Amino acid sequence: MASTIIDFHAHLGGHKPVPFRAPFYLPEGYQPPYWIRDQALFHSLSNEGGPMLAVMFKIGLYLSWLGLDVVNNKGDIYKELKGSKKINKLVVLATSPVVTDGKMDLTKTPMYISNDAVMEMARNSEKIIPGISINPLADNAEAELDRLISASRSLPNGGKAVFKLFPSVCFFHADGKDEQGNELPYRKKLLDFYAQLAALGIPVIVHTGVEEVMKDDTYAYFMDHGGDVANLTPLIETGATIILAHSGYDPSYQSAHKNKPNQFVEVKAAIRKYPNVYSDISGAFSTGYNFVGTIADLLEDDDCRAKMVHGSDFPVVLGNPEEILGILQKEDQSNIYVQKAMTAYTEIVKDKGLKKLTFLDKCARMTEITMQSLGVDDRGIDAYFTNGARLLGYAD
Ligand SMILES: [Zn+2]
Repeated sequence: MASTIIDFHAHLGGHKPVPFRAPFYLPEGYQPPYWIRDQALFHSLSNEGGPMLAVMFKIGLYLSWLGLDVVNNKGDIYKELKGSKKINKLVVLATSPVVTDGKMDLTKTPMYISNDAVMEMARNSEKIIPGISINPLADNAEAELDRLISASRSLPNGGKAVFKLFPSVCFFHADGKDEQGNELPYRKKLLDFYAQLAALGIPVIVHTGVEEVMKDDTYAYFMDHGGDVANLTPLIETGATIILAHSGYDPSYQSAHKNKPNQFVEVKAAIRKYPNVYSDISGAFSTGYNFVGTIADLLEDDDCRAKMVHGSDFPVVLGNPEEILGILQKEDQSNIYVQKAMTAYTEIVKDKGLKKLTFLDKCARMTEITMQSLGVDDRGIDAYFTNGARLLGYAD
């Protein structure tokens, strides 16, 4: 059995002094380590501790005015890695900003996590793999990619890094064509950047499906369609290893999510069609938008499971299994995805040890039970958990 188990999908989040939120306070070229426009939203996504935690969070926010870096989950990430009995390494993702005229534009950016913040964490822990994120439309995109990749070569994790492309929150068309199919002026720059990524040979994670976490109504089109698989064809055809994050995010078989755009079928087809295309399960067990039914459908299929990597979407809160089972029981039981989710959660709620597990281990355990409930044997389960290590070239 391969020994390295990687959680391929975690986020660093936090906030630097509030005055930097106002555009006129930003000195030319200044890059804050973190930027999340809607702090309350981030807090609700990453905490379920109720009113007292909310108060603590506000106090932290005020302290951050003084320059104290207290409202982030950096400590939680180190703690998780220290406490985990299952996960050996964690990919911590940066999130690239919106770019206007080639420059970072924080006023339009819903969420920004700098590469330097993530790289610093990876320098401090051999368990952390940086998820470098660059908006390809930035003037310095190519130079930044070179700088970060050469810096990553000497990281204690064995010199590994991955790349995160985020068209949905950076508001660009991933194929360089507008909604009518007309080529945009930035198409060539985009394709050149994809070629550079492919030449580096690092895995590229791309958000797929609707983006509900960092809502921005001004850019509703990108929230719904920035993660469409069809737009990724030019990137996929470079031959780079592509991981379609969230596997297209499709809980549309549940009433609360009816009529929402989804990409599950497209993701499944792409995994089968392209040898270089993989997907991850990140977010499948999260509160509010769990999509275990479609994830179970992929995990059950030997060919698809062989091309999936494990990822938790830490710190987005994991749903309470009893509650989710309750929701599923009210759904249309003839729907095949409802059936698969029911099969998984019926077993998940029986696991008495689950509540005691830390976040990363709990997500891994629920994934494991889901596979067991569908009849996947131990060898299949072990192979799933080590797909990520194989992709990154960690020896067995
Ligand atoms: Zn995520």
